[in-house]
Amino acid sequence: MGIPLLDLKAQYLTIKDEIDQAIFDVLDSSVYILGPQMKALEKEIAVYCGTEEAVAVGNGTDALVLTLKAFGIGPGDEVITTPFTFFASAETIAQVGATPVFVDIDPVTLNMDLNELEKKITPQTKAIIPVHIFGQMVDVERVMEIAARHDLKVIEDAAQAIGAEYRGKKAGSIGHAAAFSFFPTKNLGAYGDAGMIVTNDKDLASQLRMLRFHGCQTKYYHEKIGYNSRLDEMQAAILRVKLKYLDQWNEGRREKAKIYDQLLAGTKIQLPGRDPLATPIYHLYVLRTEERNALMEKLKAGGVANAIYYPVPLHLQRAFRSLGYKAGDFPVAEKACEQALAIPCYPELGIEQQHEIAALIKG
Ligand SMILES: *Cc1c(COP(=O)(O)O)cnc(C)c1O
Repeated sequence: MGIPLLDLKAQYLTIKDEIDQAIFDVLDSSVYILGPQMKALEKEIAVYCGTEEAVAVGNGTDALVLTLKAFGIGPGDEVITTPFTFFASAETIAQVGATPVFVDIDPVTLNMDLNELEKKITPQTKAIIPVHIFGQMVDVERVMEIAARHDLKVIEDAAQAIGAEYRGKKAGSIGHAAAFSFFPTKNLGAYGDAGMIVTNDKDLASQLRMLRFHGCQTKYYHEKIGYNSRLDEMQAAILRVKLKYLDQWNEGRREKAKIYDQLLAGTKIQLPGRDPLATPIYHLYVLRTEERNALMEKLKAGGVANAIYYPVPLHLQRAFRSLGYKAGDFPVAEKACEQALAIPCYPELGIEQQHEIAALIKG
């Protein structure tokens, strides 16, 4: 009993034969790193996103780190992102030695507030990392216009947004580069860690291929100090099976979201805010309410899983104390952290379950 936030077992059972076969095929080939599955997945993801290149790496965090490194970003540089996201969006900026600079979020979409963005640009700014939070794209074309005026790089953090669109353009296809995560709970999830960078920049792609492999173009000839961050063959084979179902699954999430929108209309609960030009994929379906604790209690009592995304905005995280931010600096993000609550939203969720969840919320 009980309804989980996400049901990975249910998803696996729908594609078990194909997945099991793919895993056995890799075992049979006994090729595990930098092999044909990874290369095929790179091609398929590039085609899916409409980009020239895709470079597979160990996880979504590394996708951001390697891209920042490849753009030559480091100490003394500033990179702008949002405080309402998973830690990695800003952690990676600090990892390469640069300084994360935050800009508050839009109260409707919870994405970076593009009206505030330009004010944060200084002579030290080198890049912008817009995050497509919960699977709804930011207007990256507008970010690119702002970036062009200041000669900045734009790296989309598309970890939650593979398949999402803005004015019909896919997440990852507009920025100078974009990072995807295939963490198991993402919309396209591996059975372990995995990530990918997409770009139209061939030079960048070849830099990234070196960086993920100890700075090598040819094995044992090291051009630069790199990393060990490859997407292994097992995960690549699994992701290739799952990629075929991604559009169908994303459409399923959109259907569930629409049903919630209808069932919960007219309540005091604030539904997920939509940008009319965006086609979201509902990585998470996130409600907002001033009475979050009470809502959590009701859901818990009814056996319905729920989770806070995110409890603490990044500018108030202890790890970023040295940046000198304080409560009140980004009021929209802070309020979102006090009010946001994700409820179950995944393709296998049943209509009766959605009615049950809506009744609990309204009750
Ligand atoms: C998941 C996530 C990441 C990091 O991806 P990993 O694969 O877990 O390293 C980065 N940014 C955002 C917004 C994420 O949701």
